[in-house]
Amino acid sequence: MQHDDAYWRARLSDEQYRVLRGKGTETAFSGALLHNKENGMYQCGACGASLFSSDKKFDSGSGWPSFAEATQNVTFQEDTSHGMVRTEVVCKQCGSHLGHVFDDGPGPSGKRFCINSCALGFAPEGKRGDKKEKE
Ligand code: FE
Repeated sequence: MQHDDAYWRARLSDEQYRVLRGKGTETAFSGALLHNKENGMYQCGACGASLFSSDKKFDSGSGWPSFAEATQNVTFQEDTSHGMVRTEVVCKQCGSHLGHVFDDGPGPSGKRFCINSCALGFAPEGKRGDKKEKE
């Protein structure tokens, strides 16, 4: 579901808006979920879609929450900003920017999803499940 700018302005904090809707990056080591070790599901901070399971989270040392694998609710886009070619990670449901994915991960997939904490919500186990948008 795609929404206009005013919709997100009204619903997100300034920092979330800057990252999720403006493809921004939060300051390294600043995120509330960086050191979260609870079991559960990381969700899109904008629309609530389930994006990353806690059992795929690892400490990359980068300063951003890192995951070896994503759910089917993310999609990818080439990002050539800042003089680099990177793969942007985007929420498939609402189109919000989440972070980037790199090929230097530790798991069998070799992927390292480097995700802004403020772009995520967290549902502890037992409360997981996709939030469907209401229109
Ligand atoms: Fe989303």
